[in-house]
Order: sequence, then C-alpha cells, then structure tokens
Amino acid sequence: MKRIGLLGGMSWESTVEYYRLANELVRTRLGGVHSASILLDSMNFAIMEKLQSTGKWQEAGTMLAGKASALEAAGADMIVLCTNTMHVVADSIERAVRIPVLHIVDATAARITQAGLTRVGLLGTTFTMERTFYRDRLAAAGVDVIVPEPADRAIVHGIIYDELVRGVISDDSRAAYAAIMNRLVDAGAEGIILGCTEIEMLVGPADSTVPVFPTTRIHVETAVDHAFH
Ligand code: GLU
Repeated sequence: MKRIGLLGGMSWESTVEYYRLANELVRTRLGGVHSASILLDSMNFAIMEKLQSTGKWQEAGTMLAGKASALEAAGADMIVLCTNTMHVVADSIERAVRIPVLHIVDATAARITQAGLTRVGLLGTTFTMERTFYRDRLAAAGVDVIVPEPADRAIVHGIIYDELVRGVISDDSRAAYAAIMNRLVDAGAEGIILGCTEIEMLVGPADSTVPVFPTTRIHVETAVDHAFH
C-alpha cells in the first residue's frame, strides 16, 4: 500500500474528513485493524486565507510546492491537495515533485463522465467558480460548467468562509444552498459539483434533485485507489 501525502489545513474541518475517509476506505478493503498510510502537512489556514484575499497566488504556490517537496522527501508516494481552490497553483506543486499530484478536477471529471453527464453546476469559493482553472480543466474532459448568478455566488462563498471553515453548520445555510442548486438545475445542470471540500459537511444527495459530486469523498477514493495500484 502506497503512502498518501496530504497537503491539508485548508481548512482543517475538511482535512479531518480526508483523514477519516482514507482510513475507513482502507479498513473496508483490507478488513481487521488495517488503516491508511498517511503523511499530513496541516497548515495554518489564516496564512493561506490572507494570501488568497490579497491575491498573492504565486507566493501561495511557492509555499505549497515547498510543502509538497517536504512530503516527498519524507516518503510520500503521492500528493493530495485537500482543497479545490488551491488547485489554482497545482502546476507549481507538480513542478516541485516527481511523485504524482492527484488533481481534484481530474478525479471529479472522471466521475461525471462515468455518470454520463456533460453539463454540471459548480459550487465553490468565488475563486473556484469565477477563475478559469477549474472550468477549463473540466471542459478539456468534455464537461460544461454552469455557475450561480453573482448574488448566489456571494452567498455560496460567504457561507464557506464565515461558517464552514469555522465548523459552523446551519439549517438556514443548507436551505440557501439547496435553493441555489435548484436554480442551477433550472439553468440546465444535470448534476452539481460540491467543489469546495467543506460543502459536503452541509449538503448531500438529499438536498438536490440531481446527482451531486462531493469532491472530498471523490478525491479520497481516488487516492486510496492509487495507493493500491
Ligand atoms: N476548502 C475549500 C476549497 O475546497 C476552501 C478553502 C480554501 O480556500 O482552500 O476550495
């Protein structure tokens, strides 16, 4: 079994889920008291949030590349970046290591095409919904993306940073997300990407009339598959 290198802390609320899911999946495969082999670098999210809000993406990329390189030197066999947003600097991380970087968009696109869908809604931070890095990579895989209208994007983003990364789960926010997902379906979405690693703490299949694609779970399943191949 290969060792999974997690670049986490963005936020730790979802990194906990990466850790828990990876261990559960290995136990399901191997039984008994088997668990995953994991190296984790969990950073202080306040540092990353500041770099994001001040637009210092290059600095953020350099920092994450250094962390990935340290995980490789410590014995990781793959890098799993536990956030959708920071895949904006995935190229910098890929250049810094020889081991594979398991891209969250590739893992998610594979699930969407396996499900036979070609047009999906995307929920995430405004960086993920508005920048091109996410939608272009999905388009390359044959998947078109619909994002919420600006007012809805602000709601989705605000709930992530004001609540979810702080561990706050509210029924009002769940209802707000469900309404926004409905509007994406009305606009033609055949499925919804939960494209922020904390969103699946708030909503799931029961809150949507179309299939949802939970990126944390999909990313971890991809990593554990890779650990056995
Ligand atoms: N975890 C979130 C994501 O998947 C947002 C936090 C971050 O900006 O890294 O995009």
